[in-house]
Amino acid sequence: MATHKLLLLPGDGIGPEIMTEVKKIIAWFNARGGDTFETDQGLVGGSAYDAHGKSISEADMAKAMAADAVIFGAVGGPKWDKVPYDVRPEAGLLRLRKDMQLFANLRPAICYPALADASSLKREIIEGLDILIVRELTGGVYFGEPKEIIDLPNGQKRGIDTQVYDTYEIERIAAVAFELARTRRNEVCSMEKRNVMKSGVLWNDVVTATHAARFSDVKLSHMLADAGGMQLVRWPKQFDVIVTDNLFGDMLSDVAAMLTGSLGMLPSASLGAPDAATGKRKALYEPVHGSAPDIAGTGAANPIAMIASFAMCLRYSFEKVAEADLLDRAISATLDKGLRTKDIASEGSTVIGTSQMGDAIVAEL
Ligand code: ATP
Ligand code: MG
Repeated sequence: MATHKLLLLPGDGIGPEIMTEVKKIIAWFNARGGDTFETDQGLVGGSAYDAHGKSISEADMAKAMAADAVIFGAVGGPKWDKVPYDVRPEAGLLRLRKDMQLFANLRPAICYPALADASSLKREIIEGLDILIVRELTGGVYFGEPKEIIDLPNGQKRGIDTQVYDTYEIERIAAVAFELARTRRNEVCSMEKRNVMKSGVLWNDVVTATHAARFSDVKLSHMLADAGGMQLVRWPKQFDVIVTDNLFGDMLSDVAAMLTGSLGMLPSASLGAPDAATGKRKALYEPVHGSAPDIAGTGAANPIAMIASFAMCLRYSFEKVAEADLLDRAISATLDKGLRTKDIASEGSTVIGTSQMGDAIVAEL
């Protein structure tokens, strides 16, 4: 039986509150027998800044690098609005992403049957929805050089961002998408703008070549990213895995997120390259939402995005597919009973707090 090392980084705001609920889930799996999850805890964001003047300490960084997976809550809040830029709370997360080289961001959009009517879209459009957006996270126009605002001789200014992608960056994100598709419905749709962007032409070429060389068993299609945005809203169930660049992925994953409703329901994973010796990928799991300072300390936070992020951890870091499915079903069944935190409450549902929601999911397990 294996022991898996998890580093928990609760962070700020509601981060510690929702992390407490994940700990209940971890304790349940540990008590059940089988593989064991060993947890350590660190500080990140504003809470780390308050403790030692940095958004993450070197000691906690080292723990993150050594862990099998990092479970991350949320960082930031008005309390730290004025701290110096390079030690602001978000810098802690960026440092983790950079040092762990987390280049693949996974954002599922899943429709829980009990919440299908909460979407602004018709039930028939989103019922049974289960798509996974794989976004390139460390390259593209957010990082390319030159990146600056320059003064022009005519007194105007020019803002410059540069989209840059090299072959290896496209190859490795495509490989993640194809590998994940194999564990799902075996379909990948790649999105770019090859009609107007050279990086889009290269993206399309490299995804196609990677597919032919290593993943020809997976069904591959291509779509221009603008058309993809349209199709996501028109008939999202046509997609299984979508792979796209940093900029388009940022937008398309937010669109996909809103297909299903609340921010408090959305998990995410960020994966790095496989280790040369062990083949294991570095990984960080976090809810899509932020630290929600407006409701921190009130016991109202929805812990489901955080708990579903742990389900992703079971699935992608430890290949515990049955356990991940079990946890996802427990979340779904809890919602089926009409139990809701305030953010997802609807007529006829029972509003409960953060801790009660965690308990209800454990009871369902
Ligand atoms: P960030 O800059 O970190 O993304 P933000 O203000 O954009 O912060 P959130 O912190 O996610 O985003 O908060 C947005 C709104 O959603 C807030 O009103 C918050 O209370 C609510 N919210 C976010 N997460 C949850 C949750 N888990 N449970 C309940 N409400 C939430
Ligand atoms: Mg935000």
